[in-house]
Amino acid sequence: MILFGIELAVTEQRISVFTMTHPSWNRRTFLAGSAALFSQMTAARAAETPPPVVPTPFRNPNVYRFQIGDIEAFSISDGHSLMRSGIAMMHPEGDRPQMKTVMESNYERLDGIPLYINILVLRKGKEVAIFDAGFGKWPNPNFGWFFDTLASVGIQRGDVTAAFLSHAHVDHIGGFVTDDAITFPNAQFFCTQPELDFWFSPEPDFSKSKRDKKELPGLTRDNRKRFEILKPVTQVLKDGSSVWDGDIKIELAPGHTAGHAIFHIQSKGEKLLHIMDLVHHHLLMFENVNWTIAFDHDPELAVVTRKKVFAQVMSEKPRLYGFHLPWPGLGHLASKSAHSFSWIPERYSWGS
Ligand SMILES: [Zn+2]
Repeated sequence: MILFGIELAVTEQRISVFTMTHPSWNRRTFLAGSAALFSQMTAARAAETPPPVVPTPFRNPNVYRFQIGDIEAFSISDGHSLMRSGIAMMHPEGDRPQMKTVMESNYERLDGIPLYINILVLRKGKEVAIFDAGFGKWPNPNFGWFFDTLASVGIQRGDVTAAFLSHAHVDHIGGFVTDDAITFPNAQFFCTQPELDFWFSPEPDFSKSKRDKKELPGLTRDNRKRFEILKPVTQVLKDGSSVWDGDIKIELAPGHTAGHAIFHIQSKGEKLLHIMDLVHHHLLMFENVNWTIAFDHDPELAVVTRKKVFAQVMSEKPRLYGFHLPWPGLGHLASKSAHSFSWIPERYSWGS
């Protein structure tokens, strides 16, 4: 009742203002009519069951279209994974003060590192290729956006004809299997033999990795299950082999995982090199190519491979695309010194 009193008082105040500016209205008539309307509204409100309040997290646009020669390309963000450990997941440990300085001088947050999850989609005629599939179905609103966004550009799951896997970490392989079934029913699934061999070896060797060892049995079990489900559509690609009449070429880039792959895409003289998890951050692995992330299975080999591919990139200067780089993930590599580079992100283009 107190609430009701306050409500009426506020209403009366508003009416005073209203009748002052509209002298033809009779204040008493208005007040009586208003009270009747108010009681009707209160009754109606009580009869209604209020709908549950489910906040919908707002998503900024997460699809960016571009062209590689004759190939139509999309960079679709599956969201991001916020790594709360921040630079504590970077190695060597002794270099963390320098890493912190680099982050601070670039106005980067230190309470966590957001790992972007960028999925490259290519379309040429009736062929559609995807490069990794993101996390897939998860209850976390920060990621798992890929399927909705793919549909929003008019590509249904059944339209995907080629599904490439770079390596079997959950942010890359998760989306290829949904509810224990193949997500893209008409797609050939391409992966490398060393990646399969690693996950199916009796004891996958994580001895060099700085990963949390507790999560490894679950990781191995989940991946074996996914690969078994995908087996009927799996085709193993050898290092240097190509598909799509040579438009897509696979290159083994081991270290992050045993069979980690990167992809050379070309059409009509235009090139794109998808460097996948050769780097995980737009500052840290560029500022010092020797800095590594805890997720590397073999950090030393990851550094050797990064140096080798960076040398190749500096001589050929292809346009690059990175799975974990700030979305949309396109850019170029610039060299500062023997072991130090810069990521030059490509500015947005509106198409002409
Ligand atoms: Zn990754």
